[in-house]
Amino acid sequence: MKVLAVGGGGREHAIVKALVRGGAEVSTVMKNRNPGIARSSRDFLLARETDVDKVVQYALSRKVELAVIGPEAPLEAGLADRLVEKGVGCVGPTRSAARIETSKSFARSLLSKHRVPGNIRFASFTDLRDAERHLGSIDYEVAVKPIGLTGGKGVRIQGEHLMNRDEVLAYVREVFEKGIGGAGVVLEERLEGEEFTLQAFCDGRKVVPMPLVQDHKRAFEGDKGPNTGGMGSYSSEDHLLPFVTSSEMEEAVDCMRRTVQALASEGCPYLGILYGQFMLTKDGPRIIEFNARFGDPEAMNVLPLLDSNFVDICAGIAAGDVSRRSCEFKRAATVCKYVVPEGYGTEPRANVPINVDEEGVQRSGAELFYAAVNEEGGRILTSTSRAVAVVGVDVSIDAAERRCERALRFVSGEHIYVRHDIGKHEIIQRKVERMRALRK
Ligand code: AMP
Repeated sequence: MKVLAVGGGGREHAIVKALVRGGAEVSTVMKNRNPGIARSSRDFLLARETDVDKVVQYALSRKVELAVIGPEAPLEAGLADRLVEKGVGCVGPTRSAARIETSKSFARSLLSKHRVPGNIRFASFTDLRDAERHLGSIDYEVAVKPIGLTGGKGVRIQGEHLMNRDEVLAYVREVFEKGIGGAGVVLEERLEGEEFTLQAFCDGRKVVPMPLVQDHKRAFEGDKGPNTGGMGSYSSEDHLLPFVTSSEMEEAVDCMRRTVQALASEGCPYLGILYGQFMLTKDGPRIIEFNARFGDPEAMNVLPLLDSNFVDICAGIAAGDVSRRSCEFKRAATVCKYVVPEGYGTEPRANVPINVDEEGVQRSGAELFYAAVNEEGGRILTSTSRAVAVVGVDVSIDAAERRCERALRFVSGEHIYVRHDIGKHEIIQRKVERMRALRK
């Protein structure tokens, strides 16, 4: 089957690899020349992924039957709508269904209108004075979230980034004054607990869960430092996480199922990958946010585990027909660590050369995914963002972590950085104990 892939990051490299493994002939649109994707694709176009006309024209010229859209920006630009109009099946929701990610106020209001479990106290504002008045009337700590897309970097949490009400007020004013996210602000209750990610295949009605993953957003070891796009992630061989029980996972799946039903009943059926970010609190899982696509890095944890044919699953999503039976995952654990340029998260260096010994990584039995790098004259150069991800797959998290570290020795460079603590026993144990203490 001829398939279009959109995007040039680590997530999309994992998507393209899974499509090729499933027998697809892949044509890709990406803005950077990702060497892994370039090699795995039959052909590719270097272009802005939000240039809908160009992407659609390319898709038609390659006679693709199916498209898999990696990042959120083309979804917001209406790429799925246009492809479907032209008869191309799409893994990726229409612009209106993608509001589950692109508008935080839409998402919270939908959940509250349809009484989806796992929702939390929130209020959204398009007027600064109303937001200020609201802050004066509540007695709980808040998370401040610009309503529109901010590349995951606009959220600030009281007690973490904002030390008191004055700092909360100052940031809310800044969001309005600078137009961060473009559309106002959501103020929601601050949650306490451990975060986890649940991704699911959705065909408009049904929701088929993938193994749970925990991402690490903070730049430095010990979960310190600024938030990033994600420094690495792990998943467990039982498809749960060491601090999440199967009934808690089922509760989270139920939140996702009810959300997909709510979208369908609002006339915007959701066909694609739904990503739920949850906080496991002492009262159970609560929804932090939804994304309308795979997570990056989380795609790189789950896709290498897929035993079923990814192309068949994608075709099923686009045709409105997925089932648990057709989405089988290996009972193995994964640990993914991103190699990034020094300073990533604050003041990243750019164009840092990195050496990747692909054969060495392969001999270590690990998977390698290229992200925001460019290949120029045979050299691989970073951008200011994440460069290369290495994923160890093995019988347990410990074994997968060791495999990932063995493979990382084959990625070198003078100005690169890796969070080596991800997937290590100590940091996971700390999370387990923290959750145990909260549950008491
Ligand atoms: P988001 O962009 O909504 O995923 O938020 C970014 C990060 O902020 C999340 O990964 C959480 O660590 C944190 N966060 C978001 N919402 C809340 C909340 N209501 N309570 C506590 N932490 C939150």
